[in-house]
Amino acid sequence: MQNRLKTRIMLNDWGVCQERSCLLCGNADEDKKHLFFDCDYSRKFIASISAWLDVPEALFDIDTSWKRWGEVIQDPIKKKVCYAALAAIVYQIWFARNKAFWLKVIIHPRVVCKMIRAEIVQRSRQLINCNWKRRHCQWLYNLQVYVYN
Ligand SMILES: [Zn+2]
Repeated sequence: MQNRLKTRIMLNDWGVCQERSCLLCGNADEDKKHLFFDCDYSRKFIASISAWLDVPEALFDIDTSWKRWGEVIQDPIKKKVCYAALAAIVYQIWFARNKAFWLKVIIHPRVVCKMIRAEIVQRSRQLINCNWKRRHCQWLYNLQVYVYN
């Protein structure tokens, strides 16, 4: 991901916004590195989703997580699902951040986590094809069971 997100640091540099602090935690300047995933708020999601997918916990950085998951996840189907999960996490964090920016509302992390899980299951169902084995379908089914837990 390139640095195109209009974070508060960028908006502050452009003179558009007076504040620089993270809208989700308020504990640091809001830039890409902080949002994905130095921020305590967003770190909860990557930790929770990693455990749910049974993949090594990300090293709290998008690019590092992407590379590491690419190395350690051998199964190509599971790897695709995990990449879709990383994309869903990033999307939902940015969505939550924009809710905070525009509506002054912080979505509860538990709700965001459920949205991420539901999105991953939904996207993964679309990936099912003749290359999927029974174990892949069973894995996805087990993930689906825990979407709302
Ligand atoms: Zn933060």
